[in-house]
Amino acid sequence: MEEFVLNTHNKAEFPPAHTAEHLLNQTMCRMFGCKRSNNTHIERKKSKINFALPDCPTKEQIEQIEHTINQLIQADLPVCYQYIKREDVPIDVPSERLPQQASEWLRLVRIGEYDTCLCIGQHVESTREIGEFKITSTSWNQDSFRIVYRVFPLYPDKYNQ
Ligand SMILES: [Zn+2]
Repeated sequence: MEEFVLNTHNKAEFPPAHTAEHLLNQTMCRMFGCKRSNNTHIERKKSKINFALPDCPTKEQIEQIEHTINQLIQADLPVCYQYIKREDVPIDVPSERLPQQASEWLRLVRIGEYDTCLCIGQHVESTREIGEFKITSTSWNQDSFRIVYRVFPLYPDKYNQ
């Protein structure tokens, strides 16, 4: 069996909060046609993520974001992995932010059929482990929409290291 060589992740993010980040990215792309965020700060207690949006979402839209994520958690979508070569990245998977020195083997992370992206972070096994997703505050300034969120994981002690 071939040995996969992957870049090391630059930080160990709390898996339930990081997996919620995947769902949030895909939900924002679908609702607003924006790009996935490249400005995130994911932690156990409080996570921040910024999206480039020309207008501030309405209160109803913000509620819809939160509701959609919680529905995806309830649906208990499995998180699956596939190792692929750099040249085999599917055309609909963003890869423009891959560093030049990215390893030849990359890892695709699929959450059910909802989201697929390249990632080497740590995730839960299925979305129900995220528990509950709550947007605690939002702000919009100069085309940047910030969401502050937290998760209430089903097994809070599972990911202690
Ligand atoms: Zn990830």
